[in-house]
Amino acid sequence: MPKPEYAFLEGRIVPIEQAKIDIRTNALQYGTAIFEGIRGYWNEQRQKIYVFKMKDHYLRMLENCKILMIDPGYSLDELMSITLELLRKEDYRQDVYIRPFAYVSSTSIGPKLVGYEHDFFLYTVPMGDYLDTSRAIKVCVSSWCRLSDNALPPRGKIAGSYVNSALQKTEALLNGFDEAIVLTSDGHVSEGSAMNLFLAKRGVLFTTPTTDEILEGITRRTVIQMAREDLGLEVVERKIDRTELYTADELFFTGTGAQISPIGEVDRRKIGQGEIGPITRQLSDLYFKVVRGEMEKYREWLTEV
Ligand code: PMP
Repeated sequence: MPKPEYAFLEGRIVPIEQAKIDIRTNALQYGTAIFEGIRGYWNEQRQKIYVFKMKDHYLRMLENCKILMIDPGYSLDELMSITLELLRKEDYRQDVYIRPFAYVSSTSIGPKLVGYEHDFFLYTVPMGDYLDTSRAIKVCVSSWCRLSDNALPPRGKIAGSYVNSALQKTEALLNGFDEAIVLTSDGHVSEGSAMNLFLAKRGVLFTTPTTDEILEGITRRTVIQMAREDLGLEVVERKIDRTELYTADELFFTGTGAQISPIGEVDRRKIGQGEIGPITRQLSDLYFKVVRGEMEKYREWLTEV
């Protein structure tokens, strides 16, 4: 059977063909929803799926629900057990992507966040690489700026705000690039269209601060910790200028979808040798070991299905 076979909708697991919502749904009309993206990694040797940092993802979703005043209707523990139940039923033997979605489910016309009903759904899909992680990709600086916290907060992982990401990614693809780096409206580097950004210069790792219109990435936090603890690197969170991208020794994206994605070129300027740099290589090797359950030290980040 092609996967997925099931979804969780309106309080129960249903066959995927039955997982349909009303065309009048407020979240479809206005983007009034908070979502997450979680990965499960297949470990061939142990014949098991490990879900990476599931609790952190649901904690972030519940925090973000406060921004939109959405009540998903389930506790942290319930969300995690629904996820495991759905994954067990699917019985995947490959890497998967998990998409939780907490949304304004009312069918009334009008964008507002009070006086409406809310609901939660969940589905999973098989997923390999979102970006090609085996090579250094080519990116541009987008002509679209990042949304701002006072307009449509990127911190929120709000469904509607991903139109901003779609514009950036589309412009990049149409112009022959793989991805886009986005600037804040005051002209500082923010992040990629759906991934955080790291820069290595003279052996120090830099990443943009959480106040520069980024999603506070779970992979970002993971990479900061591994870089400090396992590679002994200094990691600095500070504002980054556009031209610092051009003069970096190494650049890479991080994200649940993107994983660790090396960047070889920005705006047609080669970064380092234009290949995967040594720090990026070490972090990427470590990351893939960790998520597949091959690093005892970080086993607590994984939930076995
Ligand atoms: N920024 C944006 C805009 C994203 O959509 C994502 C993907 N969730 C990220 C960064 C990376 O976040 P995470 O590492 O938690 O997946």
